Amino acid sequence: MNSENVYDIIVIGMGPASSIFLKELNANRYKTICIDKKALNGEGFNKPCGGLLAPDAQKKLAELNLSLPLDVLVDPQIFSVKARDIETNIERFYQRFYLNMDRSLFDKWLISKISNEIKLIDKAVVTTINKINDYYEVCYILDEKEYNIKGRILVGGDGSKSLVRKKFFGNIPIRQYVCIQEWYQSEKKSSNYMTIFDKEITNSYGWLNYKGEQEIFGAAFPMSDSKDRFEKLKAKMIDEGHEFGELNDREICQVSCPSSVNELCYGGNGAFLIGEAAGFVSPSSLEGISYAMDSGHLLAKVFNDDKVNIKYYSKLLKPLRKKLFIKILKNKILYTPIIRKWIMLSNISTIKVIK
Ligand SMILES: Cc1cc2nc3c(=O)[nH]c(=O)nc-3n(C[C@H](O)[C@H](O)[C@H](O)COP(=O)(O)OP(=O)(O)OC[C@H]3O[C@@H](n4cnc5c(N)ncnc54)[C@H](O)[C@@H]3O)c2cc1C
Repeated sequence: MNSENVYDIIVIGMGPASSIFLKELNANRYKTICIDKKALNGEGFNKPCGGLLAPDAQKKLAELNLSLPLDVLVDPQIFSVKARDIETNIERFYQRFYLNMDRSLFDKWLISKISNEIKLIDKAVVTTINKINDYYEVCYILDEKEYNIKGRILVGGDGSKSLVRKKFFGNIPIRQYVCIQEWYQSEKKSSNYMTIFDKEITNSYGWLNYKGEQEIFGAAFPMSDSKDRFEKLKAKMIDEGHEFGELNDREICQVSCPSSVNELCYGGNGAFLIGEAAGFVSPSSLEGISYAMDSGHLLAKVFNDDKVNIKYYSKLLKPLRKKLFIKILKNKILYTPIIRKWIMLSNISTIKVIK
């Protein structure tokens, strides 16, 4: 193989985890390439997402001295969550501090922070990865042409359906859900983000929020019958009087939803996993951007400290693992219908909203 195609680090995926890893990596020390199937100009494939930037993610941006440009934000901004339990017919409002954003513009902005020394390849799908002797050999397709590269180190920032994880760490399974999300034309605006619980349909949750001239309605479901479950939930919303506008788009994807910290996987043998590929997503809210940025930042520290081994990376990840452990406990409590009912009826931390 031509030495031009040999790298120190090959990164797969250009989501928030990889962008922060690459931004923080001491780029002049490593010859690095990063490949993603999405287009950097935002056309084509976009990551299905609620596009809410949670306080932990805002804190991470502050730690990295990054201030979010205004054009990444979308109208309306959100000040509360309206939690609705369909079965018990209980509705409560809670104050929240999310930023409502355009997810593809957010990803694009993070990518713009990566050093020019790193080679970025977009619109390219990685199809196969093999480890041969000391090198990872990666094949990707770009404009219908096949390219082969190799690298000493492989970083999987390739999200919930991570090829890196499947190929080399398939023995550590992680619970997955299917997310279905529809975008409708809408002139409505609301300062609250609605979360919908219905134990008959899903043991996760549904959501409804507004972005510019559009309304997003989505939910996460166990892997079986997800399309039927989505239609049932939508029918219930319509029965309750909710009017959906003209359908603009429908997105379906998988989301990792760890049920135990033992489902986390950080890599090994010269390969490292970051973000959702490693399993870092809150199972209660499906919030994953802060975890993605945190783990990407920690992996950059592994390289910058010249301690490129999985033991050191695991050590740095301990606080994140602990945070996820608490979220997993919270998930078990919040998604037990009787406990949820009791919490909602107790009115703890609720706010009164004038209708
Ligand atoms: C419906 C939904 C709503 C969500 N809403 C929120 C929210 O509001 N707030 C929040 O904080 N989190 C939310 N999340 C979670 C959040 O989106 C993820 O946790 C976060 O994007 C993970 O970042 P990442 O960098 O690890 O992976 P990703 O953002 O998934 O990035 C992975 C990248 O890898 C690329 N890729 C994958 N495979 C290949 C391949 N074979 N070849 C080339 N490229 C490849 C993909 O194109 C993608 O760009 C939501 C998730 C879903 C599914």
